[in-house]
Amino acid sequence: MRKIGVLTSGGDSPGMNAAVMSVARSAAMYGIPLIGIKRGYNGLLRKSANLKDDMQELTLELVLDIADDPGTYLRTARCLEFKEKKYQEKAVKTLKSMQIDGLVVIGGDGSFRGAQALCDLGVPCIGIPGTIDNDLPYTEMSLGYDTAVNVCVEAIRKIRATSRSHDRPAVVEVMGRHCGDIALTAAVSTGSEIVVVPEVPWTVEGVAMQLQRQLNQGNYRATIVVAEGCWESMAPFDLYNFLTSRGKPCYPEEPMSAVRFASVMKRMCGMVEARANVIGYVQRGAEPTARDSAFAFEAGNLAVRLLRDGISNQVIGMQKGKVFYMPIEKALKKERYFNRPLFDLVNSL
Ligand code: ADP
Repeated sequence: MRKIGVLTSGGDSPGMNAAVMSVARSAAMYGIPLIGIKRGYNGLLRKSANLKDDMQELTLELVLDIADDPGTYLRTARCLEFKEKKYQEKAVKTLKSMQIDGLVVIGGDGSFRGAQALCDLGVPCIGIPGTIDNDLPYTEMSLGYDTAVNVCVEAIRKIRATSRSHDRPAVVEVMGRHCGDIALTAAVSTGSEIVVVPEVPWTVEGVAMQLQRQLNQGNYRATIVVAEGCWESMAPFDLYNFLTSRGKPCYPEEPMSAVRFASVMKRMCGMVEARANVIGYVQRGAEPTARDSAFAFEAGNLAVRLLRDGISNQVIGMQKGKVFYMPIEKALKKERYFNRPLFDLVNSL
């Protein structure tokens, strides 16, 4: 193996830099030079005027400085044309010209599809899961998920403290476009009363009834944790009809959002106030937790060892507390498991 390349692709996630650091330390230990590729697959398509804007030799000194940083030093970006074979072939040419004989790809399922395409063209690749959403079914952990959950837990605890002081419910929106794992784990970890996720169809009226039950029990400060993608799994809802049928005035319809949802809950349950909070990008830009950093450390080393040993076309994951690897193609075919019993428990307690 003459040289190894490493890139981060897709959405950034805490722990990506720690994984790059581990790849660098391992490559140095095995005496293999390491090239960092910038902005995902874009760097391989040599879009910049200067080579150094697309690639950079990653020395130990440099990566040791960035290891604990949030974000990704190598930058990340979408590269939609990389889905086309002619661009994948161009990337292979770049890799060959740079004498890069193996590539570590840190990203989500889209990035892994890119890695698979390169493998099919003869470039050995290893994937490390990096996505806060936890939407890679083959692994129990992906870099950033634990950090994102912890950011949400910290925020929700603070929100619940002030909710308690004022006896008013809160709606908290967390990340997760297609995957409600952050919302569910954050809800469980904070004792939040209601959770709404994209995986489970729901109605506004149903959540209002749940909230009403809490209010009737004297709990005026319930927290409703919603995943950002849940608005798409919401049954059509007509506030105008709902309120006018009860003889109440109503404003024109707007698309549903955390803010509007809080206002709808307030009006449906006849409360004085309900506050909305969208946690947003602090979930992605946080410093990695110990759990994410430790996984990054092990995964980075395993990736280099696999390439060195001539094993490629694999993704690294965590199962029952152990780091393992499996073929990319097989990993991408795994069906996602959503913890429905836990979801039902949160919503029924
Ligand atoms: P993630 O890796 O987090 O799932 P994306 O789905 O945005 O994020 O994918 C990241 C990048 O991976 C894309 O911008 C593209 O460069 C590459 N990619 C995604 N899907 C494919 C595909 N089917 N074939 C080749 N490359 C892909």
